[in-house]
Amino acid sequence: MKLLLKGGTVVSGQGAEILDLLVDGETIAQVGKDLTCPDAKTVDVTGKVLFPGFIDAHTHFDLDVCNTTTADDFATGTRAALRGGTTLVIDFACPNKGETLAYGLKLWHEKADGKSSCDYGFHMTIDDWNENIRAEIPDMLAAGIPSFKMYMTYPAMMIGDRDLFLALEELGKYGAIAGVHCENAGVIDALIAQKKAAGETGPASHPVTRPNALEAEAVASLLRMAQVANVPVVIVHLSTKEALAEVRAARERGQTVYVETCPHYLLLDESRYFQEDYSASARYVCAPPLRTEADQHALWAALADGTVQTISTDHCSFTLTQKDAGKGDFTKIPGGLPGVESRGILIWSEGVAKGRISEAQMCRLLSENPAKLYGAYPRKGVLAAGSDADIVVIDPTKTGLLTAADQAANVDYCPYEGLETQGVIEQVYLRGKLAVDQGTILTGPEGTYIPRTPGTL
Ligand code: MN
Repeated sequence: MKLLLKGGTVVSGQGAEILDLLVDGETIAQVGKDLTCPDAKTVDVTGKVLFPGFIDAHTHFDLDVCNTTTADDFATGTRAALRGGTTLVIDFACPNKGETLAYGLKLWHEKADGKSSCDYGFHMTIDDWNENIRAEIPDMLAAGIPSFKMYMTYPAMMIGDRDLFLALEELGKYGAIAGVHCENAGVIDALIAQKKAAGETGPASHPVTRPNALEAEAVASLLRMAQVANVPVVIVHLSTKEALAEVRAARERGQTVYVETCPHYLLLDESRYFQEDYSASARYVCAPPLRTEADQHALWAALADGTVQTISTDHCSFTLTQKDAGKGDFTKIPGGLPGVESRGILIWSEGVAKGRISEAQMCRLLSENPAKLYGAYPRKGVLAAGSDADIVVIDPTKTGLLTAADQAANVDYCPYEGLETQGVIEQVYLRGKLAVDQGTILTGPEGTYIPRTPGTL
């Protein structure tokens, strides 16, 4: 079946232009001016803005963590993704310490296969390093996984400097890359112990025990290790102006550093933790924590000048009941926010519509750059002949409202409750098929696994 989208503004990483788009089956056949195709169904998208399907390279679906399991699994999480214009998620497969990468991969396929409504891939978490894990790296690449994750904090997952360094070096041999969660572990533990000893056990202690300096310290440490290993590296969910300075310093000495941030670091601040009501504050607990307005300004500027290259969500959702686990002990609040559903329209409304970034920059941040960096380009990340027909249609003239009542994610709150958006996502196509129309999901679990190859920006 052929589909001709006529008269829309087609956005790429280079700019935006009024063009027609011809879809044949699952892929884009042609992009150009005044296209005609008598046997195609024609859809008038005059006045609409067309993006390549958004890619969320940082989700946690069906993850057992903090003595519970995330509220969203692949069934609900990918429906939420699709509804928000995200047609590809890259989730973190997460074997426990002592398990093989192959086991982690098998487990994540079991969680995702046949249940996902958008396309999906996996990063592989490395929380152990030994000869067996080392020998599994080429197997992961053969399975379509060129990207890995390591943690500098969290006892269950942190890997330690020696093994982090050895893993970075080994991955570099294959052109593979690692994203790293950068927070200093030891000092955070000390600060937490002090707060507990002082009886300050509410959510307000969460940001205070994870200050900006301890992200910057870990980023600096990681970047120095990557310098010695002579490999590029990804800083995931960067949240502070101080960490940005460390990234800039590393680039000035010639290192390749990729940086991701998340919508919540751009749009929410730490005052959320200082509300009197436990639940109102606890719902915002995530790590790194929400920061200050000064950090938000620095991050927006870093998007505009290209210092930060991708925006993903770190979607890791828990219900308010799950968040109640930390009443009386803020360290037991399951950490994470929902985000996969709202990212596209938030960045459009708060970024493009407010003039902070251009349409082309948004396209790079949400589609083109993650596709290139994580090796899915040009199948994903661009509206061009031969690419998958993953298309997001935005009406920039309408306004929308973000509410918990209006979301597909399996979570009973929205971090942006009541936020009015300039612009709404009208349609989402997944590989040529209309998957979402006016907020209604029209398709079932038709997402497929997308194997990837080592990428670069
Ligand atoms: Mn994460």
